[in-house]
Amino acid sequence: MTSARATTATTSGRAFGGWREWRGWPDDLTQLWRRSLRFRIVLVTIGLTAVAVLIACVWMALVIQNDLFVSRREQVLADARRATTAAQQTLDNAAVQTGDSVQLQSLMNSVLAILVQQSSTDMIAAARIDRTAPQAPQDFTVGGFDEALITEGMRVAVRSNAVPQWWQSVGLPLESGGTMPGILVGQQLVLPDVGAYELYFAYDLGSAAQTLAFIQGILWVVGIGLIVLIGGIAWFVLRSVTTPISEAAETSERLAAGELTVRLPVHGEDELATLGRSFNAMADSIESQIKELADLSLVQQRFVSDVSHELRTPLTTIRLAADMINDQRDEFDPATARAAELLNAQVQRFETLLTDLLEISRYDAGSVQLELEPTSLASLAEDVIASMHTLAEQHGTDVRLVAPGGYTPVDMDPRRIRRIVRNLLGNAIEHGERRPLVVTVDSNQQAVALSVRDFGLGMRPEEVEHVFDRFWRADPSRTRTIGGTGLGLSIALGDARLHGGELAVWSEPGRGSHFVLTLPRGGGRLTAPSPIRLEPDTDAPDELGRTQPIVLPSETASGRGVS
Ligand code: ADP
Repeated sequence: MTSARATTATTSGRAFGGWREWRGWPDDLTQLWRRSLRFRIVLVTIGLTAVAVLIACVWMALVIQNDLFVSRREQVLADARRATTAAQQTLDNAAVQTGDSVQLQSLMNSVLAILVQQSSTDMIAAARIDRTAPQAPQDFTVGGFDEALITEGMRVAVRSNAVPQWWQSVGLPLESGGTMPGILVGQQLVLPDVGAYELYFAYDLGSAAQTLAFIQGILWVVGIGLIVLIGGIAWFVLRSVTTPISEAAETSERLAAGELTVRLPVHGEDELATLGRSFNAMADSIESQIKELADLSLVQQRFVSDVSHELRTPLTTIRLAADMINDQRDEFDPATARAAELLNAQVQRFETLLTDLLEISRYDAGSVQLELEPTSLASLAEDVIASMHTLAEQHGTDVRLVAPGGYTPVDMDPRRIRRIVRNLLGNAIEHGERRPLVVTVDSNQQAVALSVRDFGLGMRPEEVEHVFDRFWRADPSRTRTIGGTGLGLSIALGDARLHGGELAVWSEPGRGSHFVLTLPRGGGRLTAPSPIRLEPDTDAPDELGRTQPIVLPSETASGRGVS
């Protein structure tokens, strides 16, 4: 399939919604991410900074936590050692009579007092290792020591006495129900005459945990502060770079839109100033070249317009003379009569060419004014078909009108639209290979459309691309009977665009061509698709003509075979 569109596309963008339109926020943020370099860089900077700060803070917290634990552990081990040594010294120095359990018990009580006094914890427990001596003092636990804290492994280790001190991390039960991290230290205490006791001290890590929580809090605050600060700095630093860039983007957009006098403000000597200076130099050069071209084009336009005007007067005289000679050709000998006929045809062609040239020069000068009046496109199509009836008949072509819509009057310049339809129909008759033509008129809420479909020669893709070019014609070897100027479609496109509409073409060799003219209702530009599809659904003319008969306001006509 090959098609070319003679319209300019319009794009619409959604403005950033207010805070109330929270549903649109993800879309707005995506748009901002795509459009704003500053937003993107700041977001990336904040993201990367956050990751770096998080890693640094977690690492610092772990190191500090480990350091706090190690120093607290060393502290409690020293504390337990000191208390145990003091208690052992007391025991070693005591003179106890063998087998005197009362004396032993009071010795044990005084040892307990020393332990509580010497150590920084009051959670202490002692248990006999050798349970055979009857006079041995009772096991004891003080300060709410929970014996469940002592694991079997710890007991075995302390009893073995392989090293003087054992420790393990434990969770100390709290009154509130939870647990607090703590360290359990175990070692042996030897009672004279009785044997060794397992001695346990439980220390809490409450103060270390508090210090750690405090440090973690500070790390959080510092980390978040750092991220915000770096984000802010990135925002402000980028402003100095992105503001000139967006100024340059805006200025180049205005330049591209035709404001040739806009320039970039240049400050200083840095790279951005160099960019500004180069941009301004480029704009100067473009402006002067465009001005030169515009002047040249103006001269050309004036030349074409003047020549066409100047040629009109002599041509009118030639036309009158040619008409006169042609009227009397029956009196001439056959060769002169043929010459008179040819002269008349070529003078007519010359006149058409001149009229087309004048019209084109008016477009170029931008001096065309539409004379709008409410017109029914369906009625207009019927009029044109009727006016071209003879030509169609001469070519043996059956012209059918199918009009499911397009009756309601729409503002248009009927003279120009009639000219477009006449041109499309003339071309279709010329290239339609005597096969039926189908003219369709339809409408939707935004537009009215008219299409001309023929089932003739059709065009190749490279031909379709040039169909609206001035003076362009496909294969010149094709038989031409109407004798067009090659300007018809170019003028038709100009007329369609003046109405804010479009003229589109589909064509394929052997399948024929389909030209669709679409005009917006109520002025403005076309925003919706045409009511008539460009690519035809069928290659059978009879299938296209099966809609309801056309009923025009003034008269009743048949929807099929208005030819
Ligand atoms: P012309 O005055 O030559 O008809 P147009 O601008 O109307 O000028 O058309 C330009 C060329 O496009 C024609 O010469 C013809 O080769 C080609 N063309 C236009 N309409 C058709 C059609 N329906 N089928 C095949 N070719 C076409």
